[in-house]
Amino acid sequence: MNVPASELWRHLRGPSLFRVPGRQIRPLFVSALLHGNEDTGWQAVQAVLRQHRATMLPRPLVIFVGNIAAAKAGVRTLPRQEDFNRAWPGTPHPDTPLARLMRGLVETIRRETPFASIDIHNNTGHNPHYACVNSCEETHLHLARLFSRTIVYFEHPVGVQSAALATICPAVTIECGRADEESGVTHAAEFISSVLAIHHFPDHPVPDGDLDLMQTFAIIKIPKDASFSYDGTDADFRLRPDLDRLNFAELEPGTIFGTLGAARSRRLDIVAAESKRAVGGYFEYVRGEIRLSERAVPAMLTTDPNAVRLDCLGYLMHRIGRDGRRIAEQQTRRLIGSSS
Ligand SMILES: [Zn+2]
Repeated sequence: MNVPASELWRHLRGPSLFRVPGRQIRPLFVSALLHGNEDTGWQAVQAVLRQHRATMLPRPLVIFVGNIAAAKAGVRTLPRQEDFNRAWPGTPHPDTPLARLMRGLVETIRRETPFASIDIHNNTGHNPHYACVNSCEETHLHLARLFSRTIVYFEHPVGVQSAALATICPAVTIECGRADEESGVTHAAEFISSVLAIHHFPDHPVPDGDLDLMQTFAIIKIPKDASFSYDGTDADFRLRPDLDRLNFAELEPGTIFGTLGAARSRRLDIVAAESKRAVGGYFEYVRGEIRLSERAVPAMLTTDPNAVRLDCLGYLMHRIGRDGRRIAEQQTRRLIGSSS
């Protein structure tokens, strides 16, 4: 149990499930290392178990350790592997070996009638710790609120752990900042401990003022054949070096993301989060500057070129009500005004 994520391959042949006994009947399900270079979840589980070396856990912990081979290599996913957080039930490719493994795993977990499920991740840019849910039912929001008041509701991508588990029990994905930050481990371990300790979720709704509920509406991509830089060197997109500092800020129209290269000919690809269709909008290009053209809250903006190429530059979100509807921006501004 003291083995670092990169050394788990010496002890485990592949994805593995552990069960640690506890006093209550219904277990807490935790998954870690679905992405091999995101080891905060594994470290948090280790921290919780270390605290309970001499005492029994309040409830059983069922732990799934995912991509051990990628953890050995220190990467999210190995080149020929499927993404371990896109192969859960709900994936459009249910017949791959990994999808079959995940389906069997979900059935095993279902029989355990889990109390709740937590999937633990890191991201590459500067982001606050936040929780993601696939359902706005109160128990799911209560679970997420124990980790953060910032909660992102999402339906895409599909095939993710929390969407599959949300059909069984309250489920959450937690984003714990960068993998090398100790604060993420501490926060995730405290969260696991507090969920282990509660007997049941409150019957009353989470008060509206207790959470910032958001949804991703658009994905920002750099066209595959375009170049980009963060240090001002000439490229199609010269992005500001502190781009990730904008994450989770309520941005006004006119906020500058960077400048266009000498040719000034390229445009960012803006894709709708739900339909994956190119939608345009959100940015305007004025005198070579790349400016936001409407209010939005960005998330996961990254300054890691690999993350940009593998995934995207970042996401644009809006505040939503628990009915899933976007809150009008004027109302949003009043909310911000009253809370500051
Ligand atoms: Zn991840």
